[in-house]
Amino acid sequence: MITQIKGLHHVTSMAGNAQENNDFFTQTLGLRRVKKTVNFDAPDVYHLYYGDEVGTPGSVMTYFPFPHMAPGKPGAGEVGDTEFAVAPGTIGYWETRLADQGVKGLGRETVFGETRLRFAGPDGDGFSLVEVADDTRAPWTGTDVPEEAGIKGFHGARFRVQDSAASEELLRFMGYEVADRQGDMTRMVLPGGNGADRIDLHQMPSAPMARQGAGSVHHIAFAVEDRAAQLEVRKQLMDTGYQVTPVIDRDYFWAIYFRTPGGILFEIATNEPGFDRDEDTANLGQALKLPTQHAHLRDRIEAILPPLN
Ligand code: ZN
Repeated sequence: MITQIKGLHHVTSMAGNAQENNDFFTQTLGLRRVKKTVNFDAPDVYHLYYGDEVGTPGSVMTYFPFPHMAPGKPGAGEVGDTEFAVAPGTIGYWETRLADQGVKGLGRETVFGETRLRFAGPDGDGFSLVEVADDTRAPWTGTDVPEEAGIKGFHGARFRVQDSAASEELLRFMGYEVADRQGDMTRMVLPGGNGADRIDLHQMPSAPMARQGAGSVHHIAFAVEDRAAQLEVRKQLMDTGYQVTPVIDRDYFWAIYFRTPGGILFEIATNEPGFDRDEDTANLGQALKLPTQHAHLRDRIEAILPPLN
């Protein structure tokens, strides 16, 4: 069994409009933009990262905004809800705040004994704010969201899968344990995780497979401490029959990817080196950062990318 995984590292989704996306995460949700860079494989598209003050693994929501991208069609084989942790007693504040700002899809529910507020992102993205006791992670405070209500990072994610057994088996192999079952939902928890350590499997046997587009999660990344741990995880996955990519340098972490039996693309990302490797903590996310291989294209890239306020 793999023992090196610490919980989630980041969640990467697709968006339509970059400015709208930026405003939703930095203003409405009060996260910090910790990096403004480009899609390394398509440098004419932004890659925007939002999280806590330094972009601690387990807090980082990232987006590829593709102008004019068609909306995704929700279904099985994808991350349905991405869940953020907030302090107990703050859901009411969020319900009012999000309603006042015209956020769609608002609805409260209680699942596995937790109170949550579901809502939709600007492209129909599925999100929840979940009240979590004893979460000691500190929220970003450079926003008008009161510190006591601030988002502390991810709580976890809810996967929509046609058959949850295969996903459950993989997550067990990755160190997760079944904590509870309720109807068609299975809750898995990673003991000793980084706080972003819950995965709920929502089994939907007759749901059609999702079609990815704006508002869809592209992939979900799990955290390992360093490159040595990542290589051990890669070997164990490959020994079990998974097709895993070679290690790829993403400037702020090292990444490997593999497709899971449920259809979701998983990444394993390192906690090193982090988002302050090329910017001071005070100025994170301000300048447009380009990976070395695209640095010579800066003039062209800056002319193509829509300006971000
Ligand atoms: Zn990623």
